[in-house]
Amino acid sequence: MTNTIQENLSVSKKNAIAILSKLVSFPVLGGESNITIAKWIEDYLTQHGVAFTNVPNDEGTKRSIHCRIGPAVDGGVILSGHTDVVPVEGQPWETDPFVLTDKNDGKLYARGSCDMKGFIACCLSALPLMVKADLKKPIYFAFSYDEEVGCLAAPELAAHINTTYSEKPQFAIIGEPSMMQPVVGQKGIVIFKTTVNGSAGHSSRIRTEVSAINEAARLILWLENKMNGMVEAGRVDERFNPPHTSIHSGIFERSGIAPNVVSDSASFYWDVRVIPMDKGVDILKEFGVHCRDLEKINREKFPDFKISTEYAHSDVPPLDTPEHLEVVPLIKELSGIEKVTTVSYAAEAGQFSEAGFEAVICGPGDIAQAHRANEFISKEQLNLGVEFMYRLVEKLSK
Ligand SMILES: [Zn+2]
Repeated sequence: MTNTIQENLSVSKKNAIAILSKLVSFPVLGGESNITIAKWIEDYLTQHGVAFTNVPNDEGTKRSIHCRIGPAVDGGVILSGHTDVVPVEGQPWETDPFVLTDKNDGKLYARGSCDMKGFIACCLSALPLMVKADLKKPIYFAFSYDEEVGCLAAPELAAHINTTYSEKPQFAIIGEPSMMQPVVGQKGIVIFKTTVNGSAGHSSRIRTEVSAINEAARLILWLENKMNGMVEAGRVDERFNPPHTSIHSGIFERSGIAPNVVSDSASFYWDVRVIPMDKGVDILKEFGVHCRDLEKINREKFPDFKISTEYAHSDVPPLDTPEHLEVVPLIKELSGIEKVTTVSYAAEAGQFSEAGFEAVICGPGDIAQAHRANEFISKEQLNLGVEFMYRLVEKLSK
């Protein structure tokens, strides 16, 4: 690197901290309006002469932003981040979670510092360089909302990018915290809520009535057996931990009114975290067939017996980027890390992949610090994120 680039780099690193402290000051939780932070980012883009496009929700209370820097030619790189964060309620924070706090221990504390406003700060701090550079291939920013409540906005954002630009971006880098390590695989997730309607009655009539609690409990065990059966059938992918699709029931809602009354209603939530070879919808289908069988049997006793299942969280697809795709050597070169990995958390990468982009996850910070009290990003990681942007600009200027 030349001296000028070195000087610019240290300015960008300083700016990244200033931008991050602004970004974390918007306490935009998943599910809430993100207009405040979106507006700030848009003003920043405008100040740097970059035109942007919005993808609003129907009510106009939330919007994604995307923009292109550089020429309208194929083969560009999308940098993707989300503007929302998870709540801080009930967590033992030692500092104000919405004020970026430097405790002089090499770490910057705030909600979202790591997941994932740190990455957005890296993108924005390098924007002046991107604008000035003689890019041969374009860079796109794609900033979404409602990621933390089910990756709700990314499919529409990715589709919008496909229809807005006449050229075709080739790559998507999702800047979720990965300690800048390239991530080529991610589990998918879907959450369901199942409700059982049985018949009420005196508890002595348990063999005459149909207890919703008993039937729901049987269904939960069926799901556990289903998971175990899939493992036994060899549906295993050793790249993930655990190396199989997991099915789990996390909430059994308050059911029944008294110990001596047969419960006529029970419901539970179950989440399915799929490895790339499996699909949540296939498990749902099989579960549905089993439920219809049970309905047939139980309706002989109680004609209104019913089991219904609804989506409680949209189906977020897994990511499985094969190593022969060009994005893999690209991300290794940009991150300086040769070893690729996989993660078990859900992210928008699978959705960008489904939209036709070669997608990987790579961003500053450690996912271990995300979603918890005293979330932080180390200055070292933030600096690596800025350096990553510089290498990207250099690469795309050749
Ligand atoms: Zn995130």
